[in-house]
Amino acid sequence: MTFNDLGLRSQVVKAVTDMGFEQPTPIQQEAIPHLLKSKSDFVGLAQTGTGKTAAFGLPLVNRITESRKFPTGLIICPTRELCLQIAKDIGNYAKHEKAASVEAVYGGSDIQRQIKNIKRGVSIIVATPGRLCDLIKRKAVKLDEVEVVVLDEADEMLNMGFKEDLDFILSATPEEKSTWLFSATMPKEVARIGKTYMTDPLEVSI
Ligand code: AMP
Repeated sequence: MTFNDLGLRSQVVKAVTDMGFEQPTPIQQEAIPHLLKSKSDFVGLAQTGTGKTAAFGLPLVNRITESRKFPTGLIICPTRELCLQIAKDIGNYAKHEKAASVEAVYGGSDIQRQIKNIKRGVSIIVATPGRLCDLIKRKAVKLDEVEVVVLDEADEMLNMGFKEDLDFILSATPEEKSTWLFSATMPKEVARIGKTYMTDPLEVSI
């Protein structure tokens, strides 16, 4: 199987080919065709190193075909390092798609600069929970047009005590959206998030 077989647009396939990826990994093969559907909930039980970032990042970028003022994609992850890595990867996947732009928002960095960049208009926000809550409370980010929310390393986020922040963030997004959850483990707190926020998700374990 190649990236051409998954249903991705040619700009997106070209971007991964540029990155030197030849074959989709197992999680990419299973997740991508499902996540390309307009409404798709998904639970992926996958460790780092399986290619999970591209499994959600490619179908997310694939949806973006026009510039919008407010974000349509939101990725939430536990740490600054992961946030920066995901934003960098998404930027590479979106290299040939002018309409797609990405902003990383995380704590311990200049919030005014992040606010300014968001104001200019970004299609995908990659965020750590605390900083994103702060931006929502300051009314610096509008999440009413979000179509896809990705919860990456959900187990880590709950371990770090972000449960309330996640509930607050998700309540600021539209009811009608796709939610894609990735986690290395599935303790009952993570399963409960799945139950609360998703309908009939495809579950894939790698
Ligand atoms: P991740 O699990 O998303 O952290 O990805 C682990 C590493 O695998 C990253 O360095 C990716 O750039 C790389 N990678 C992801 N998908 C592929 C692929 N289909 N072919 C080759 N490398 C990949």
